[in-house]
Amino acid sequence: MDLCSQERKPLLSLAEALANISAAIQPVNESENLALKNALGRVLSAAVHAPINIPYDRNAAMDGYACASAELTGQPVTLTLAGTSWAGRPFQGALQAGQCARIFTGAVVPAGADTVIMQEQVQADGESIRFPANLKPLQNVRAAGEDVKQGQVVCAYPKKLSAVDLGLLASAGIADIPVKRQLKIAFFSTGDELAALGEPLVSGKLYDSNRYLLNGLLADPCHAVVDGGVIADDPKQLEDTLRAAAENCDVLITTGGASVGDADYVKDVLARCGQVNFWKIAIKPGKPLAFGTIGGCYFFGLPGNPAAVMTTFQQLVAPALRQLSGAPALHPLRLAATCTSALKKSPGRLEFQRGNLSQNADGELLVASAGKQGSHILSSLSEANCFIVLPSECAGISPGEQVTVEPFNV
Ligand code: AMP
Ligand code: MG
Repeated sequence: MDLCSQERKPLLSLAEALANISAAIQPVNESENLALKNALGRVLSAAVHAPINIPYDRNAAMDGYACASAELTGQPVTLTLAGTSWAGRPFQGALQAGQCARIFTGAVVPAGADTVIMQEQVQADGESIRFPANLKPLQNVRAAGEDVKQGQVVCAYPKKLSAVDLGLLASAGIADIPVKRQLKIAFFSTGDELAALGEPLVSGKLYDSNRYLLNGLLADPCHAVVDGGVIADDPKQLEDTLRAAAENCDVLITTGGASVGDADYVKDVLARCGQVNFWKIAIKPGKPLAFGTIGGCYFFGLPGNPAAVMTTFQQLVAPALRQLSGAPALHPLRLAATCTSALKKSPGRLEFQRGNLSQNADGELLVASAGKQGSHILSSLSEANCFIVLPSECAGISPGEQVTVEPFNV
């Protein structure tokens, strides 16, 4: 049995912790207008409607000849060339009976025409254009508004804007858009043992890797991130720093000091200056995790060990930040895969083991352990491309068993 699950009070399950966080979070209300090119990854704060039809005109899907379908009776027909409709330079006027127009892809289909015949299908002889028998009427014409009609929703609210969304909004002529304001997030490492990069390392110290990890995990256009540095294992310094930071931030994140050691002050300090919603979760790695509020600021006290930081960030903090930013929830893709390694596990906690997911020639998903699973070990996490998600009651996996995997890309 997993000794960490043997607590007097039953630990919160991941689902309970997520529900607690979700119930506590009020998405930000304020928005700002941004130039479209600066809005990638931001959350739209209102639905955007199309001010025009997209496409604006009825236009050709092929290079060829535009004509009226009434001319195409099933028999071969020769029509007279009346002019050309170029992309950007439409044919002026309307086609008369017996006429056709040269047309290029994207060009406006002239009045009087409703069909475009591919150039490869006709024989051009000066002004005489011969159309063969049995051509399909109404082909190769894109209707105005076929993509989005004027007045229709181009981008629905809420939405985190992708590159494709920016292209779509640009096609509607929208130059700036309202988005939710950025979240102000500060993060800190705690611990007397932490050395800064550039300092020579002495025995008893280790380099502070968590702030580099967190800075990367927090990289998102919705976030304005401040690296708050290192806080010593000193309750007064911790309290003063958190109180001051909470005045200016939406979210504070610390790593370390969240456990039950004599130098672990995070939970007590949180209780003194704010509210502790919960403190321990039945997951591995990542059992000590404090969530609460300090005034109007949300607080996440993550564990100290880097692999636990990554796991708890992905599983708990990332969905919370999405909700706070106003973006719709993302449910991580979970897939069934055949495990090719033996995995050690004791019953008691939901476990996120590092794996490498691949697909064999038959398309079957296979996953192998990515190596050492200690919460202090980053090298195997760096090699991994997924979590192998093992339910609380699981007592280990033998090669060939089915497991659930959650791919990640960080
Ligand atoms: P703690 O919860 O403070 O006892 O930290 C648990 C473990 O994580 C300790 O062994 C720490 O050395 C390690 N740790 C804490 N903070 C960091 C950090 N910023 N970077 C790397 N390791 C850390
Ligand atoms: Mg510590």
